[in-house]
Amino acid sequence: MITTDVLIIGAGPAGLQAAIHSSRSKSKTIVIGKTKLSSLKWAHIENYCCMDETHQGPDFLESGVKQAKRFGAEIIEEEILKIENIDGKFKVYTDSGKEIISKSLILATGIKRNKLGVKGEKQFLGRGVSYCADCDANFFKGMTVAVVGDGSAAASGALLLTAYAHKVYLISEKLEVDGRLSSQIEASEIQLVKGKIKEIQGNEKVERIALSDETSINISGVFIELGQKGAIELASILGVILNDQGYIMTDKEQETNIPGLFAAGDVCGPPFQVPKAVGEGCVTGLNAAKYARKTK
Ligand SMILES: Cc1cc2nc3c(=O)[nH]c(=O)nc-3n(C[C@H](O)[C@H](O)[C@H](O)COP(=O)(O)OP(=O)(O)OC[C@H]3O[C@@H](n4cnc5c(N)ncnc54)[C@H](O)[C@@H]3O)c2cc1C
Repeated sequence: MITTDVLIIGAGPAGLQAAIHSSRSKSKTIVIGKTKLSSLKWAHIENYCCMDETHQGPDFLESGVKQAKRFGAEIIEEEILKIENIDGKFKVYTDSGKEIISKSLILATGIKRNKLGVKGEKQFLGRGVSYCADCDANFFKGMTVAVVGDGSAAASGALLLTAYAHKVYLISEKLEVDGRLSSQIEASEIQLVKGKIKEIQGNEKVERIALSDETSINISGVFIELGQKGAIELASILGVILNDQGYIMTDKEQETNIPGLFAAGDVCGPPFQVPKAVGEGCVTGLNAAKYARKTK
């Protein structure tokens, strides 16, 4: 079991700035996340104060990682699958099986921009289409469901659903998950289907999915779990309050309704901009470190 003062989920500009401020306050700081999955990876930045030329996102991220490490932060390139609040401390589980306990936690996971983009997805949202297995699994007790995605969110969502649903399909073009998750999928009763969903069909509710190889599968629910676990899924179990646009609500100190749990960057809502992510990251880094100092 690894222990730390401040744990940051997300290695984008919000998480890295938080790590710089937290580690400079002499708090033990761990960042979990992959820079290659930050939105900034795709950006060319020319609206960041004091940088008069266009900068490439990957260069920004590389410098941020170097800076955070120089001040003592540890960066672990993994994904978080679950968070628990145990007696006021936060325990997280990574996709490789690491367990980390922290006095304070910062969510800087950015936003998922990835909808499936198929016919029926919007029409059946809330009537069989879900983006959160952790939130909605219970509504599908005893039913047949499909989970779609190629990453850890889909794999762990499908595993979770086996405890509720009668039958679980995992629809994936190319499943790319850590070895531990991959063996869990193999050992389970999940039916892995290599392919792509073409359309979600039904009448009042979802009834089937049509696949690109012209076959179809009868199901009652489809969970769209593309990429990594999003902040909303991770936070929902902890009872974090969201604002009316569905983003994480914080106060001016960037603290959520859960003491010791902070959030920064795109997860807190628009504008989706690097300067805002960095500003909020700074505030969370300082405040999470302060919180950890007064926690035994
Ligand atoms: C194409 C494009 C162009 C853009 N251009 C600009 C621009 O010109 N100017 C500007 O200011 N902004 C721009 N942006 C927006 C900017 O990139 C974002 O606002 C910024 O990156 C948000 O930072 P963040 O740290 O909140 O999230 P992100 O940078 O998205 O980082 C999220 C981090 O969380 C990690 N993560 C997520 N889930 C998990 C999990 N379960 N476990 C572990 N880690 C997890 C990811 O791996 C990643 O490291 C652009 C965005 C895009 C997509």
